[in-house]
Order: sequence, then C-alpha cells, then structure tokens
Amino acid sequence: MTTPDDDKPYREQRVAPPGDLAWHRDGGFLVATGTCPVCGHRTDKSLVDIVPGTVTKGLPWGRKKPQANRDRTVDCECRITHREADERNGCGACWTVRLPEEGAL
Ligand SMILES: [Zn+2]
Ligand SMILES: [Zn+2]
Repeated sequence: MTTPDDDKPYREQRVAPPGDLAWHRDGGFLVATGTCPVCGHRTDKSLVDIVPGTVTKGLPWGRKKPQANRDRTVDCECRITHREADERNGCGACWTVRLPEEGAL
C-alpha cells in the first residue's frame, strides 16, 4: 500500500506498472487507470488503440489485421503539482502497459 506523497519532487524515471492497473473504454479511447507506484496518486491516461500505420488501405473489413505492437508508455498524470514539475503533469514516472486485446473491453 502506497501512501500518497504530495511533496515528491518531479523526477523522470521508468518504473513497474501500478499493481491496480485497470482499463476502461471512454469514447474512442482506452483509458488506463491506476495508482502511480512512485507518488501514490491516482492517474489516468487515455490511449488510442489504433496504431498509426497498421491500418492498410483496401484491406477488406473483417480480415485479420497484422498483429501490432500493443505496448504503450504511460506517464504519471496525477492532478497534483509536484515540486520541480513546472508545467508538467505528474511526478515524472512512466511505465509500460500492454493494451487489452481488441474486443476485451
Ligand atoms: Zn503524484
Ligand atoms: Zn506519480
């Protein structure tokens, strides 16, 4: 259990994804929510699940698309302004998530 740390200075670092990472769909976006492992604040990040360049023109609908890389980098976007963050969001932490399979949400 992480205690929120509002006083955490901004620092760019790659960390393990939140243990409570969860997904939901919001309009055309996939939204990853979770508790930032570094600062302990709730963060949510909207991601587009269509990878640019993987939609081939002229491909008939329903045909299986080539398997795209579904890994995405998510930055901490908590609502707290951390020390030394200036205009940036969050505490500087980022982590890699894998998009849920198509149709899983
Ligand atoms: Zn934070
Ligand atoms: Zn954070």
